Amino acid sequence: MGREFDIIVLGGGISGAAMALALADTPLSVALVDTSALEPVEHDGTFDARVSALTEASRHLLNNLGAWERMVEQRVSPYYGMEVWDAAGTGTIKFSARELAVSRLGHIVENNVTRGALLEKLATTSVHMMGGLEVQGLKKKGDQVELKLWDKSLLHARLVIAADGANSRARGWASIPMREWDYLHHAIVTTVETEKPHKDTAWQVFQHTGPLAFLPLPSENGRNYCSIVWSQIPDEARRLMGLPDEEFCELLEQTIEGKLGRILSCEKRHKFPLRQRHARQYHRGHVVLVGDAAHTIHPLAGQGANLGLLDVASLAGEIKRACERDEDFASKMVLDRYQRSREGHNLAMAGIMEGLQRIFDSDNMLFSWLRNTGLNIVDHLPVLKQEIVTRAMGIKGEIPELARGRKVSVH
Ligand SMILES: Cc1cc2nc3c(=O)[nH]c(=O)nc-3n(C[C@H](O)[C@H](O)[C@H](O)COP(=O)(O)OP(=O)(O)OC[C@H]3O[C@@H](n4cnc5c(N)ncnc54)[C@H](O)[C@@H]3O)c2cc1C
Repeated sequence: MGREFDIIVLGGGISGAAMALALADTPLSVALVDTSALEPVEHDGTFDARVSALTEASRHLLNNLGAWERMVEQRVSPYYGMEVWDAAGTGTIKFSARELAVSRLGHIVENNVTRGALLEKLATTSVHMMGGLEVQGLKKKGDQVELKLWDKSLLHARLVIAADGANSRARGWASIPMREWDYLHHAIVTTVETEKPHKDTAWQVFQHTGPLAFLPLPSENGRNYCSIVWSQIPDEARRLMGLPDEEFCELLEQTIEGKLGRILSCEKRHKFPLRQRHARQYHRGHVVLVGDAAHTIHPLAGQGANLGLLDVASLAGEIKRACERDEDFASKMVLDRYQRSREGHNLAMAGIMEGLQRIFDSDNMLFSWLRNTGLNIVDHLPVLKQEIVTRAMGIKGEIPELARGRKVSVH
């Protein structure tokens, strides 16, 4: 018989680390297991190539978990403007925090800053941190789940929260079926230095082969930096990955239409194939999915990590309520409540990404008209713009309590 816990969170990325931290103040024994070391990486001044545009709802959750302050101490980049346009026409839409009467549109944060702050905070709690351990199998045994580790040792839990990412093996071991399809896009990400300042604005141009986003990062020593996400059809992505830095930077500059002046340099490029995935059910046999393990979407609106954090807020809320009411926190009833609260929202966001990608990818005359006329019309409709932005920011719509903007009792 191996070690026993009430809950094992499998996967210590942003979703899993936030999940374990959100459960740290419950009476339950919680362990967080990850193949990698569960330690914050030391900042060496370079930027993490992986960044996320975090919504206000995510900021509230991270703040309620006690991690946000540390993130601000390290490096976060608030942005106040957004400009989106169609490369093949005249359609443009601009959003500004001032015009929409909000303090900011969101924050661009390096993923290792978010994860690092969560792990630092976790180290001060009673959560059992089990880094450097690969889980190699999982099966239901009575009313528990048994996890087999790489060294053949065993762990047991009443509930396993699988936060093991897009290619979740836990999802497969629990036989949870998926709907998934290829966007036929690969995303290239890297950090670039630009000649002109980004004006705390996120820029995104849609070409028919895919969108290119420039996300503002903090200036360092008076130099201007952006994180780029360039989604492209696979052949073009392969070609772009193979270009020398100078040519790649020139092409970036042309594609963004010189809005940030010359692209002076770029860091190492990374490429990710993009697939839409959605679990047909969020739990089975005392294994429940959160974050990328439950769903992945196109990064064109920067929502993936935000959806994962809302999953965390919702599931933590249901588990805590069950504990308060003396219900079984691992019961089907409790996990069904979590699924009901998140599935519709996650599916709706996936549908919107799918629609946007189709409209912007197409050469079709109708879609071309829609892009140009639609963007310009919406740009002149402040009420509609307000609705779009406040929903995207996570300050309107159904937001779980833990991700709302007031202090709730955590730690
Ligand atoms: C190009 C790109 C740009 C993006 N931009 C944005 C954005 O602007 N905004 C946004 O909100 N989202 C964005 N996203 C999405 C976001 O990056 C992901 O949704 C988020 O990082 C997923 O976090 P996660 O914790 O669910 O999974 P992961 O980060 O994949 O973490 C999974 C963890 O599980 C561990 N693990 C896996 N298997 C095992 C095992 N068998 N045993 C032990 N440990 C295991 C791994 O080591 C890892 O630490 C983007 C995604 C891409 C590809």
